[in-house]
Amino acid sequence: MPLNAVSRRVLFVLVCLCLAGCDTVSGTGRRQVNLYQPSDDATIGAQAWEEVLSDPKVVRTGPKAERVRRVGDRIVEAATQRHPEIASGFEWEFVVIDDPDQVNAFALPGGKFAVYTGMLELTAGNDDMLAAVLGHEAAHVTSRHGTERLTQLTITNAGIGATSIFLLGDLEPTDRDLVLETLGAGANLGVLLPFSRSHESEADLLGILIAAEAGYDPRAAIALWQRMAEVGGAQPTEFLSTHPSHQTRIKRLEEAMPEAERIRSRSSG
Ligand SMILES: [Zn+2]
Repeated sequence: MPLNAVSRRVLFVLVCLCLAGCDTVSGTGRRQVNLYQPSDDATIGAQAWEEVLSDPKVVRTGPKAERVRRVGDRIVEAATQRHPEIASGFEWEFVVIDDPDQVNAFALPGGKFAVYTGMLELTAGNDDMLAAVLGHEAAHVTSRHGTERLTQLTITNAGIGATSIFLLGDLEPTDRDLVLETLGAGANLGVLLPFSRSHESEADLLGILIAAEAGYDPRAAIALWQRMAEVGGAQPTEFLSTHPSHQTRIKRLEEAMPEAERIRSRSSG
């Protein structure tokens, strides 16, 4: 279907925005299209954080909250050391959410973390393992995955279809590839989920480097995913899941371990 003048114009503006919004991810050098500034990450995260804090299950004092803060402070310090240009601009904060059934944790853009008590039980007595969880979440923050994801959704929702792509013909090949990668065909499985999986892999890799920098044992990340596999029950196939399968995850972590071990021996030696 040929594009009318209006949609050509909209597309042109969006492509310009994409090119203006090209950035690289600290630590991996991956090129990222992000229409937001790091200060927007902080604002967007702070708004969502208000909502999180209104949950009566939020725990801010006591041994569990203190444990998360103690490990979290070291992780933030290490993340700031490794990614100073991003991490130092954020006000990092942690809470615990009392829900033993949720073996999970999350981070909002701008450095606000929540860890569920289910995850604290899974990592009980093992701060290296909790550091693996928080390192992963910190890496989502420093890689600005939240606003990158928002950018992807914004562009996809603007209704750009595969038929528009011929307009990109004049761009440099690397820019064209990047724009195509981001626009895709707007199909969920083809575009959005693989991006999420790549975010997860990136957070896994950068997360163990942050945990190692903080002096924690990076191998705990492997133990964590093995334990998750044990308690997680049936794992959806990797293709339909937003998260890589535990097996793929463990394999990639093994590959990254020598670098993490080097960082740890340097930081503790
Ligand atoms: Zn993640």
